[in-house]
Amino acid sequence: MSRLSAIRGMNDILPEATPRWQQLETTLRTLMQRYGYREIRLPVVEPTSLFKRAIGEVTDIVEKEMYCFEDRSGESITLRPEGTAGCVRACLEHGLTHNQSPKLWYAGPMFRYERPQKGRYRQFHQFGIETFGQAGADMDAELILMTARLWRELGISDAVTLELNSLGELEARAAFRQALVKYLEQFRTQLDDDSQRRLTTNPLRILDSKDVNTQAILKDAPKLADYLDDVSKAHFAQLCAHLDACGVSYRINPNLVRGLDYYNKTVFEWVTTALGAQGTVCAGGRYDGLVEQLGGQATPAVGCAMGLERLVLLLDALLPSTAERDADVFVIGLGEGSSVAATVLAEQLHNALPDARIVYNCGGGSVKSQFRKADKSGASVALVLGESEIASGTVAVKWLREQREQLTCTQAEAIGVVRDALLISAQ
Ligand code: ATP
Ligand code: MG
Repeated sequence: MSRLSAIRGMNDILPEATPRWQQLETTLRTLMQRYGYREIRLPVVEPTSLFKRAIGEVTDIVEKEMYCFEDRSGESITLRPEGTAGCVRACLEHGLTHNQSPKLWYAGPMFRYERPQKGRYRQFHQFGIETFGQAGADMDAELILMTARLWRELGISDAVTLELNSLGELEARAAFRQALVKYLEQFRTQLDDDSQRRLTTNPLRILDSKDVNTQAILKDAPKLADYLDDVSKAHFAQLCAHLDACGVSYRINPNLVRGLDYYNKTVFEWVTTALGAQGTVCAGGRYDGLVEQLGGQATPAVGCAMGLERLVLLLDALLPSTAERDADVFVIGLGEGSSVAATVLAEQLHNALPDARIVYNCGGGSVKSQFRKADKSGASVALVLGESEIASGTVAVKWLREQREQLTCTQAEAIGVVRDALLISAQ
């Protein structure tokens, strides 16, 4: 039989990697709470039409990256490639934006049929933040300030930089689009294949091209900044003023356009050079038109999403991970018939010391093998129950990390001994 393996681009996250994920997730969750944001949990599949309408028919995501299926009743459904569309759908369905301005976050797997490589997978995880009902630049600023704080708390702020741009309103962008197409038409045959195609479908995305020739041609192209409407310009200036006042530095990147159609005004990315080509760890912007486009009342909105795999890669690259200990206390039963007594002792310890990690060695084994496991577990204390201890209602306490004489005490006393030992080792 051939060996079973996971689907290409979809990764197992193994136990030695999960502590880092948990640390990241806990930091994120706590941060959201501190800023007054609430969690929303959304389905992993949505009707295909939702993504087509929200993200845009001629974007990379919709054209080539979505996992679409027909379900058993013939409805076309799609594994979500991002979270914003589903979040807006849920807000509309449940009236969350009706006379309210929710600040929300979500986390979970997203799916895109891309070429797997470092930092790019077919199932990956995003942590997303979406806010509704706030049109001012103070809202954009808050998102950026929260993410800046996150980098500081994770200890990676030296490795990421903020890029900012304004896409303006739809009309301004349409005028720019026309000028850009007119300019690029002169060089049509010199553009890379994707860009040639995008000239008619999604010309703004050409600004994002990594092709060296195309980039050279773009040097003298019309600039979006010259076409911006006054309202967008003022919004952008406001955002910059907030960031300046809070000491967050940024680089204005006039070629930052983002791959989804729904953005207007502010767009931003946090990028790093430490991960090779997949350098964007967080991306977002305003999408004031999306709620209305999906059938709701016009509602300003701004959000962002982080790629958790890329953040974990960055943490791994920059900060050594501390070896996680499985246990503080390791309970050993020796000899036949010891397992009931050892299990009872372990349960009593769990009752008395709810914050301690107490591992009972199921299955028993020789003295040598059990102490080897105790050592590997990282525990500082082993509690040993042999036949004589069980007979006399005592327990042997052995210190695994310090030179100290082992002692024998009653099982009730053992709880206090362990508590003291853990308090000392925690200092
Ligand atoms: P990229 O330019 O890298 O393709 P994107 O613009 O398609 O990114 P978004 O849709 O804005 O990405 O998603 C937000 C974040 O999610 C990205 O900045 C990135 O960190 C992460 N991300 C996107 N696609 C993937 C993927 N296939 N694998 C891992 N992380 C991803
Ligand atoms: Mg992409």
